[in-house]
Amino acid sequence: MTRLSVLIGLTVFLLSCSAEVEPPDYVLVIHGGAGIILPENVSAEKEKAICTALQDALVAGEGILRKGGSAVDAVVASLTVLEDSPHFNAGKGAVFNAAGENELDASIMNGFDLNAGAVAGVQGIANPIQLARAVMDQSPHVLLSGEGATAWAMEQGFDTVSADYFYTDRRWQQLLKRQSAEKHGTVGAVALDKFGHLAAGTSTGGRTNKHWGRVGDSPIIGAGTYANDENCAISATGHGEYFIRGVLAHDIAARYEYLGEDVRTAARNVIHDDLTLMGGTGGVIVLDSKGNHAMIFNTPGMYRAFIDSRGQQEISLYAD
Ligand code: ASP
Repeated sequence: MTRLSVLIGLTVFLLSCSAEVEPPDYVLVIHGGAGIILPENVSAEKEKAICTALQDALVAGEGILRKGGSAVDAVVASLTVLEDSPHFNAGKGAVFNAAGENELDASIMNGFDLNAGAVAGVQGIANPIQLARAVMDQSPHVLLSGEGATAWAMEQGFDTVSADYFYTDRRWQQLLKRQSAEKHGTVGAVALDKFGHLAAGTSTGGRTNKHWGRVGDSPIIGAGTYANDENCAISATGHGEYFIRGVLAHDIAARYEYLGEDVRTAARNVIHDDLTLMGGTGGVIVLDSKGNHAMIFNTPGMYRAFIDSRGQQEISLYAD
C-alpha cells in the first residue's frame, strides 16, 4: 500500500468515526402512551391521525430547539399539541374517572437546576402541562392538587374550560365498557437543547374508571417524570401505581449514574425486569445529555417519535 492510500484510508476512517460519534446539538423524544397497540386494533384512519399529531408535536418542539430555545420550552410546546389532540389521554382526550369526570395530572422537570412543577387531579384546565410549568416557575411549590390547583391557575390568569370541553364520545364509551385495553394515551416528552440542558414532562388523564382523587405516576417527580443534566431525562407511561411504587423514572437515572449503564440498558433493566416482575405494564422514553435516547416498553406498542439536529427522525406505533 502506498503512503497516499494509507493516508486516504486513515482520513476516511477518521471521518466515518467522527460522523458516527458526533453528538447531536439537540434531540426531542416524545410518547403518546403505551398499551395494547396492535396493527389489528388501530384503523388506518386512526393510525394516520396519531402519526400526524406526533409529527405536529415534533415540529412544535423541534422549531424551538433549532432556534436555540430551551428544553423546557420544547417539552411544553410538544405536549401542548398532544394535549389539544382528542387522540391521546391528556388534555382534550383525557379519560373519564368512575364519577364520569376528568381529573388531569401533569408534571415538568428542568434538568439544569432540578426545578420541577406538577398538578394532580386538576379540572377545567385545557393544558395541564402549562399549569405544571407555571407551578415550577411562579410558585414556591412543586405539586398543587385539585381545587387548590384550579384556584391558583385562575389567580395566575389561566382560562378555565367547562367540563364539556373534555367530552369525547370514545372516552365516554370506554368508561361505560370499562375497557382495560384502551387505557393508553398519556403523553410525554424529553428534550436536550443546544446548551446541553435536559427537560422532561408528562401529562395524562390517568386511568379510565379510576376513583376520583386517584393520582398516578405522571405528576410524581421520580416516578413518571425526571430530568437531571448529570444523568438523563425520563417520561413514563403505563400502570402508574407500579411506577410510583418502584420510583421507576428515578431508578433509570440512578442506574445510568451509579452503575454506568447506557440509556437503553438502564431503561430495559427497569422496564423488562423491575416493572415486569412487579406485574406492571408500560414504557419510557429516556434521553441523556450526550443525545443518546431510548424508547422501551413491555406492552405490544407505544406511540413514540424522535427528531434530532442531524435530521434523524422516527415515528413508530408498534413493537419493532
Ligand atoms: N401512567 C398513567 C397513570 O397511571 C396512565 C398511562 O400512562 O397510561 O395515571
